[in-house]
Amino acid sequence: MGRQEDFILSIVPYVSSWKQFLGYGVVSAIVAQACLESAYGSSDKAKHNNYFGLKYKGNRVSCYSEIFSAYSAEQLPDGTYITIKTDWYGFADINTGVQGYFQFIDIDRYKQARMASDPRTYLQALKDAGYATSINYVDNCMAVIDKYNLTQYDGGEQVYTNSSLVNYIDLSPGNYGMRDHKIDTITIHHMAGNLSVETCGQLFHKKKGNSNYGIGSDGRIALYVEEKNGAWTSSNKANDMRAITIEVANNSGAPNWTISPQALNSLLLLCADICRRNEIKALIWSPNKSDRINHKNGCNMTMHKDFAATACPGPFIESIEGLIAVAVNQLLLQSPYTLNGYDYSPVFDPEYYANRYPDLRAAFGTDANALWQHFQSFGMMELRQASDEFDPVYYKSMYADLQAAYGLDNPMYYFHYVAAGKAEGRKAHA
Ligand SMILES: [Zn+2]
Repeated sequence: MGRQEDFILSIVPYVSSWKQFLGYGVVSAIVAQACLESAYGSSDKAKHNNYFGLKYKGNRVSCYSEIFSAYSAEQLPDGTYITIKTDWYGFADINTGVQGYFQFIDIDRYKQARMASDPRTYLQALKDAGYATSINYVDNCMAVIDKYNLTQYDGGEQVYTNSSLVNYIDLSPGNYGMRDHKIDTITIHHMAGNLSVETCGQLFHKKKGNSNYGIGSDGRIALYVEEKNGAWTSSNKANDMRAITIEVANNSGAPNWTISPQALNSLLLLCADICRRNEIKALIWSPNKSDRINHKNGCNMTMHKDFAATACPGPFIESIEGLIAVAVNQLLLQSPYTLNGYDYSPVFDPEYYANRYPDLRAAFGTDANALWQHFQSFGMMELRQASDEFDPVYYKSMYADLQAAYGLDNPMYYFHYVAAGKAEGRKAHA
């Protein structure tokens, strides 16, 4: 393998993990940028772990370890070059070097690029916003992407998240590790006891078994094994590598092992949330074991007893698996952004919200649920804009009748728009 391929293999994991952590950037494009900017890791700047030609711009980057001086060739619009001496960031290692790049583009000017998901769009948006002066920058990067088949690092890379419905976290160290299969199944288990989520978590630390989530009879939800990892739950590795497993507390014992209404309610919400985040269109149950374990006709609900000699999930849960599917599918049809019976999706788009506010993206990444929670608790009070369609500052300033009615009660302007203003055809952005 050549020096070029070696460099690509060495930088891909860092670009992928920062992209996954921060929720923006296109891996193939960023790796291509590093290849060109650092001459595949051989440039003088690369010796300082600056692989992206990041010129010193004060505090825009915070993870640097030194500032050094070096020459830079800049292309003028007429195609000619000039050489200038300038300051550059230096980094302690390749990881912070890549982190520095992500910090460098985390300014409003590069917002369009951060929203892009294919390499050409991403590169063009960076270029348009002034990232590079080279006239053929986009084409040169695309040529590297083609030559080394870098888009292989974009596709199939699932971004795993955990539910923000979680009330309690007690991560269980033993599990199968990173999944080797896309999440496409849900397996509901019963605890065979009325365990609190705390007690269940403690038990998981002691025995060789756990689950992704647990639900107590009080309806509280615990995270024990992150969704990116397969949990030791269903006595079947293949199942647990593709399924999210959920242990539900029982509020009665054998033989029925019932669950509380609160636990059932949380189970439905959690299942809908799992489906949304993992792009599972609907839950499909079959009373036939062979359909379940072979995922026939899209069947994506399995039971522990399909794989081992156990009563789990018990007669009660088993008897309502089909109803759970129906109820979850009803939830999936609703807008997830429903408040007081109104669909807030005209004023709330999580992607827009995260892209517009770097503080939110830093705190919540692309977790739509967490962003939605923030929007309800703070965003509307702070008059933050969370969709293209609705600019709250504009809406508030435009309509005297609304100002008279709502004054400083900012969330009411959002409410008015989704409940009446949109249907009335009121203009909501400049
Ligand atoms: Zn079980």
